[in-house]
Amino acid sequence: MKCRYCGSSEVHRSHRRDLKERFLLRMLLRAPYRCNNCTRRFAHWYLGPDIRAKDYLGLASTLRFWAGTIAMWLAIILLILIVFRRTAR
Ligand SMILES: [Zn+2]
Repeated sequence: MKCRYCGSSEVHRSHRRDLKERFLLRMLLRAPYRCNNCTRRFAHWYLGPDIRAKDYLGLASTLRFWAGTIAMWLAIILLILIVFRRTAR
């Protein structure tokens, strides 16, 4: 993959910093990356043919990623169900 801003291929996975990156990007199957050349951060798909497994495994295992993604969606669905039940009564 290449940097969105300068086109450099020297990019690495960046830590998720805030709630937006932890939840919104994960929901969209995106992850923050940082460019080694221009040091800017950007979001990119983290599952794709141009992203090697070790790019993600450097921070967490693939299993942990899927467990986190599925758990987050289950939590959202559960929350919607609870809110819906309360308003229905
Ligand atoms: Zn760059």
